[in-house]
Amino acid sequence: MVQISIVVPCYNESEVIEAFHDAVITTLEPLGRTFEICYVDDGSSDGTIAILKDLAGADRRVRYTSFSRNFGKESAMLAGMRMSRGAAVVLMDADLQHPPEFIPRMLELHQHGYDQVIAQRDRTHEGALRTALCRAYYRLVRRCMNVEIVNGAGDFRLLSRRAIDALLSLPENNRFSKGLFSWIGFDTVSFTYENVQRAAGQSKWSGRHLLNYGIDGLISFNSRPLRLAIHTGLWLFLSALVYALWIIANVVLDGVDTPGYATLITAVVALSGIQLATLGVIGEYVGRIYDESKRRPHYVVRETNESAAVLDSGLSLEPAGQARPEA
Ligand code: UDP
Ligand code: MG
Repeated sequence: MVQISIVVPCYNESEVIEAFHDAVITTLEPLGRTFEICYVDDGSSDGTIAILKDLAGADRRVRYTSFSRNFGKESAMLAGMRMSRGAAVVLMDADLQHPPEFIPRMLELHQHGYDQVIAQRDRTHEGALRTALCRAYYRLVRRCMNVEIVNGAGDFRLLSRRAIDALLSLPENNRFSKGLFSWIGFDTVSFTYENVQRAAGQSKWSGRHLLNYGIDGLISFNSRPLRLAIHTGLWLFLSALVYALWIIANVVLDGVDTPGYATLITAVVALSGIQLATLGVIGEYVGRIYDESKRRPHYVVRETNESAAVLDSGLSLEPAGQARPEA
């Protein structure tokens, strides 16, 4: 069995992938352990796949899988974890924002018996607004979610084989890996490093992307928004009851009086707003049930230098070893 697997999702990373590869090799070779690097090309359109093929051709420790289109980082990480055969698996970004020099330290901690070793970045070199928003988000998440998620603890981590097996046994389609990592448990340790900027190329996460990712996270790990809707409904009902009693008492004591157009409109508008919002929340969950019920695979493989069996539930369209030239 290989001792270390490095799993790298790559989407349009042709500018950095070679530098990344060199850095990883330089770090791993002196360790004197067997390793493999599993690259997953997430439907790049910039020739990343050609570079990966060259790397794989030159070095037998390099394995790759390429998707038929962009399926997102979560799917790419899943494919990479499925490919990996190592006793310890390190998940890394291709842009050198996850510095390979920390791998030896992670391995050392792993040897002390930890199943998950998280390299947690701080937020230097990041806009003040983004930092503040992230802080607020994590505070909200900590209050709402059933699993614990730590600010800055991203996907740069080492997982033991049994942790990987546990992750791969989770069947859901909607994979919010930050939550899944925490859900599987096991002994976890983390250390902090100073955030670095990507070596070249561009970040693929726009603000909107991040917002949606955040909502995904909140919703896939709890049903508290639904609970909140119930609570709001109950409180509104109670206050309406009190208000109605008060009006009735007024009528009984002072006789009939019909002001209150403003109250009426306010109540109607406020209530419809709350109803629509609640409907939206329910809709989100129903949409998720719909998504899950379709049981689609997480990704479609265009080509790979793997045997098809390894990538079980990604539909492999081609027999192993027969890579089709790029269209
Ligand atoms: N990535 C991917 N699929 C995507 C978007 C990103 O595989 O749809 C990869 C990307 O190639 C990189 C990692 O995920 O290796 C992190 O992406 P990026 O650096 O753009 O994110 P950021 O560091 O800005 O959060
Ligand atoms: Mg990055």
